[in-house]
Amino acid sequence: MSEVKGGIARVIVELSLDREFDYSIPAPLRSAVVPGVQVVVPFGARQVTGYVVSLPEQASVARLKPIRRVVGDGPLITPSVMRLARWMSSYYAAPFEVVVRTILPSDVRRVKRAFKAIPYIHRVTDAPVNSDPAWRKRAAKQALVLDFMEREPVVALPRLTQETGATLAVVRAMEKKGWIRIEKRQVNRDPFEKYHVVPTQPLPLMTQQAAALKRISAARHQSDPGVVLLFGVTGSGKTEVYLQALQEVLDAGQGALVLVPEIALTPQTVERFRARFGDIVAVLHSHLSGGERHDEWHRIRNGRARIVIGARSALFAPVEPLGLIIVDEEHENSYKQEEAPRYHARDVAVVRGKLEGCAVVLGSATPSLESIHNARTGKYALAAMPARVDHREMPVIQVVDMRVEMEREGRLNVLSRALMEAIAVRLERGEQTILFLNRRGFATSLVCPRCGYVAECEACSVSMTYHKATHELRCHLCGACRSVPSVCPNQDCRDPAFRYAGLGTQRVEEAVAACFGHARIKRMDADTTTRKEAYGELLGAFRAGDIDILLGTQMIAKGLDFPNVTLVGVINADMGLHLPDFRAGERTFQLITQVAGRAGRGDVSGEVIVQTFTPFHPAIQAARALDYERFFDQEIEFRRELDYPPFAHVISVTLRGADEGAVAQLCELVVSRLKPKLDPAIRCSGGTPAPLARIKGVYRYQILLRSRRVKAAVEPLREVLNGIKWPKSVSYAIDVDALSLL
Ligand code: ADP
Ligand code: ZN
Repeated sequence: MSEVKGGIARVIVELSLDREFDYSIPAPLRSAVVPGVQVVVPFGARQVTGYVVSLPEQASVARLKPIRRVVGDGPLITPSVMRLARWMSSYYAAPFEVVVRTILPSDVRRVKRAFKAIPYIHRVTDAPVNSDPAWRKRAAKQALVLDFMEREPVVALPRLTQETGATLAVVRAMEKKGWIRIEKRQVNRDPFEKYHVVPTQPLPLMTQQAAALKRISAARHQSDPGVVLLFGVTGSGKTEVYLQALQEVLDAGQGALVLVPEIALTPQTVERFRARFGDIVAVLHSHLSGGERHDEWHRIRNGRARIVIGARSALFAPVEPLGLIIVDEEHENSYKQEEAPRYHARDVAVVRGKLEGCAVVLGSATPSLESIHNARTGKYALAAMPARVDHREMPVIQVVDMRVEMEREGRLNVLSRALMEAIAVRLERGEQTILFLNRRGFATSLVCPRCGYVAECEACSVSMTYHKATHELRCHLCGACRSVPSVCPNQDCRDPAFRYAGLGTQRVEEAVAACFGHARIKRMDADTTTRKEAYGELLGAFRAGDIDILLGTQMIAKGLDFPNVTLVGVINADMGLHLPDFRAGERTFQLITQVAGRAGRGDVSGEVIVQTFTPFHPAIQAARALDYERFFDQEIEFRRELDYPPFAHVISVTLRGADEGAVAQLCELVVSRLKPKLDPAIRCSGGTPAPLARIKGVYRYQILLRSRRVKAAVEPLREVLNGIKWPKSVSYAIDVDALSLL
């Protein structure tokens, strides 16, 4: 410790160093240097940017260099977001500076990224010549400008030139005469410039909506507001509840955050909020240009935007004071960031709410097991909306057993007879069909095409993974290993034709086209939507009725509302079931329910056909009956028995490297050092190749921990990992509350 006292700033610099550095604060900067401001500091021979994270009493070293200057006017990180960042860094075991880089968009951090200014024309006086017909004839363009400015005395130059056809030279000439003045003015790059929205008024709420709104208001007025789980079936009118809750927040002089999954963040979604609240709604997502993101962010910081709608990272927007956080489709996996810091936006939202004393609403038609569990145990308040708006019927769900289908047809067709007939009826009636192909993960489960048998680990209840190189089945949780059986192990089946589950959209498209040559079919997947606008264009065409059958993957399962869709077909409901992941059942249930929700949003009720090899699987049965309760009761027991979430946290450690021997050896070392340090109640498994054992030539090994408390597992883990001298060729990643176990 040194003698230097006061006038010290602790700074993290924008270099990948997991450390904070102290600097002295020169007297003229004393008032400007507060936690959260961006600063320029000397670092070695260079100057780098950084952020003041605290003002410690004592410095950690004796001789301090001074801060060079402060960037901008005030902190970029608000005190509460700073606290949130600290929490994330510790909970998710991520370096603080990596967290800071996540909470501040790069376009805000970049010192050079400036506001945009454009010339504005101001009308100064009445031009005396304006009514002189001779002059008007001679100077037609100038006359047009004067006419225009009679209506709009202040106008941006680009708009003026566009509206009147006058060139810059014409405008300059008029300035010389003193009729107008040209002035640069800062403008916002508005991502909505092109959209014109029709304002909407609050709808009279249905009883269930009114009750939900009351729940949320009540929570907001408690001293410890907590979380409300809004469990409303698709089409139950959740958005209207959000809108009216937001109005109350605005009326109270507060702001709010609304998170939606990236894929659901379409112009239509944003429009619903803009239509109610106008341009106090800011949007943050990855498709904005850098300038737009910069301006939107500053519009939020200076309080002109009060409601922020965006994907995952919008959670860190500097709204003050914060009155409400809404996380729509809270069960969505895309809320989890798959790179450091590996945070889950829903969970962090709950923490931010707690830190700021504001209520959090989690909405979904198929809530995560964790959230439902929290509602059942009283940790969250529950607002249920079990009916659709206007009491429209829920779709009828029919399960088609593909084993029977195969038996009858003598071969396996992509479309069952029932689904084909249903599509034909829709084509005849001019109604639309959505076909859904489950393509999550990878095709390495072993499935019997005749009876639907799936190779599972007896100890872990997850599908075993087929490893091609060694021709073995392996459980990546416990490491159990079996050879591949030569015939189906099901006593009643004994079929020798095992296969690896897998079917591509292209093949499905061909099959559909072969059956319905005259239908207009479009495919929507990662391949057909690589262009930024393609997704919107396809949906636009579908909405306009230019497509009869829309075929797609996960992309079409979410939040789309098309009144003319009366049939939804799920081609392969099993696909996701056989992944080596304890959440496979939950995800399959959610997916079928969500996809089914796309049918019958208009006046005609909908039909859903689910094709499967395992019709009696609990997840499929529960989805067919639209019976969440039943699904939950079964699933929660299984989770409790095996110590899976919500009863424990899953923490995964993945080691990667091109040299498999080195990776395996280090993995073993970690496990052997870790096990003695762990509380015996913490389960530690793995230390084996990950299900995706090799990606692009890089070997992956995995260790899985299941612990009731995150800290109890992460602290010893970090100790062990930090105590190892890692060769350059092997890297590791810690994932707390891991969602992807592949
Ligand atoms: P969810 O988000 O729960 O799937 P939405 O909010 O999209 O449901 O609502 C479905 C439809 O019902 C929308 O077209 C919406 O405008 C309409 N709607 C919602 N609430 C009401 C209401 N109280 N009265 C009339 N229509 C409503
Ligand atoms: Zn196992």
